[in-house]
Amino acid sequence: MALRQIGIALVRRFRILATLSIAALVVLAASCSISKEYLTGIEWPKPPIVKPGKTSADPPSDAIILFNGKDLSAWKNGDRWKIQDGAAIVGGGEIETKQEFGDCQLHIEWSSPVPARGESQGRGNSGVFLMGRYELQVLDSYENETYYDGQASAIYKQTPPLVNAMRPPGEWNTYDVIWTSPRFKQDGSLESPAYITVLHNGALTLNHFALLGTTPFERPPSYEKHGKGPIKLQDHGNPVRYRNIWIRELKPIVGKKVREPYFRD
Ligand code: MG
Repeated sequence: MALRQIGIALVRRFRILATLSIAALVVLAASCSISKEYLTGIEWPKPPIVKPGKTSADPPSDAIILFNGKDLSAWKNGDRWKIQDGAAIVGGGEIETKQEFGDCQLHIEWSSPVPARGESQGRGNSGVFLMGRYELQVLDSYENETYYDGQASAIYKQTPPLVNAMRPPGEWNTYDVIWTSPRFKQDGSLESPAYITVLHNGALTLNHFALLGTTPFERPPSYEKHGKGPIKLQDHGNPVRYRNIWIRELKPIVGKKVREPYFRD
């Protein structure tokens, strides 16, 4: 009997020992995996070096200057608009860039006429058309009521801005725009919509908004297959002023998958 009891006690001790050993191995394995590095298996090209401007209003070194206060030679019909004190004044019809763009970052400054005349859509109306088709509204929205999806920083008749960040007439407003062009399939149908993000005077007004299509006054928005397009500035009959316009073309950075993701010691 005594021998049997000794045997049972030994088996129990062995079981406890085995359980403790397994637990120790699990902890050890876990601590080892923490020290391993995860690698994607993708080779990335080196991001090009860009010399930034002194402030966010100044163009980085890779920007294309569309208007620097001197002339509108980068624009079709640019000779129709008057330039005064470094600003281009709307009048004589719309103008559009000679160069066409796809995905881009656009900086543009504008100022509503003084004294403020008219009301609603009749006060300080102009517009920045991306790809010549999609209107980011320019309007004197300082103490000027209108339909909300038609006020400054709206995508015309599609969405109001998140906030009204308008400065009073005569002061300069800035738009900083991030634009992703729509993608179309071979058959002309839409693959992905256009997206726009806008900072109006540093306040976010449009956050990756997906456009429903073009922005006409008299019919619903729609998409029709197109390639790159110009930046167009609207003449709506009000002497809105523009200055300091620059643009950066955006290309997605594409990596090369050289192997499956893996862990390295
Ligand atoms: Mg307009």
